[in-house]
Amino acid sequence: MACAEEPVVYITETGRRYHRGDCCHLERSRIPIPLSTAASIGYEPCGNCNPPPPPEGIAAPAEAAEPYRLNVAGVTRCEAAELDRMTRAVVVRHVDGDTVYVSIPRPPLNMRSYESLRFIGVDTPETVHPEDFVESFGRQASAFTRRNLLHQPVYLAFDWQLRDRYQRLLAYLYLADGSCFNAVLVREGFAHAYTRFPFQFLEEFRDLEREARERGRGFWGSVETYEEINETRPGTNP
Ligand SMILES: [Zn+2]
Repeated sequence: MACAEEPVVYITETGRRYHRGDCCHLERSRIPIPLSTAASIGYEPCGNCNPPPPPEGIAAPAEAAEPYRLNVAGVTRCEAAELDRMTRAVVVRHVDGDTVYVSIPRPPLNMRSYESLRFIGVDTPETVHPEDFVESFGRQASAFTRRNLLHQPVYLAFDWQLRDRYQRLLAYLYLADGSCFNAVLVREGFAHAYTRFPFQFLEEFRDLEREARERGRGFWGSVETYEEINETRPGTNP
C-alpha cells in the first residue's frame, strides 16, 4: 500500500479532516494513516494545522454517492463486487468479531460520518458468555478482526437491509486488495455463515463454512464443542 517514506497524517474517530501530529483537534482520538490513504478515502486537510496537501493524482470519492447495494446490482459472488462503487471508510474502533465503528468522511445521504457497523452474513461467538469455552472462541474471533481491521481503510457494500434494529449499518467490508472480510471470517473458521436472513452471498458463505468445517479451521478444530455452542445459542441456524 504505502511506501516507507510516505508522510503519515492523523484522523480522529468522528471527524472528516486529517491533521498534523501536533494538532489540538487530536486530543480525543488520534489515528495514524498514510497521507495518500487519507486523501483517497475523502478526508480533507485541517484548516487549523495545515497538513500536507493531498498527493497529485489521488481521486477522492464523490460527495454523497449512493450506497452500493449488492441486491440491487444483482451481485451474488463476493469477488464480483466492484470496489469503485463502494463507500470508503476507516475502521476506527473495534467492538468484537463482527462489529466495528467506522469513520466515513464522505457518507452517502442516509449515513453519518461515524457509524457502528455489523458485518452481514456472519455470526461470531459472543465474547461475554457464562461459559468459558464460548468466551475463548469469541475472543479469538474478536482478536482476528481487531488485528486485521483496526485503523485500516475499508470499502463498504450493502444489501437489502441497510440497518438492523439497533440502527447499526449492515455491511460487507472489503479490503484494498479486493478480499471480502465477511467471507474471510467464515472461511478461516472464526464465524458461522448467518443464514437466518437472506443475503446475496448466502450460498457462497454456506460453502465456505462447510469447507472450514471439513478442514478443521479456527474453532471447527474443536467441532464437538462448537456444536454444543450452537445448541445453547438462540437465533443461530446450525
Ligand atoms: Zn488539524
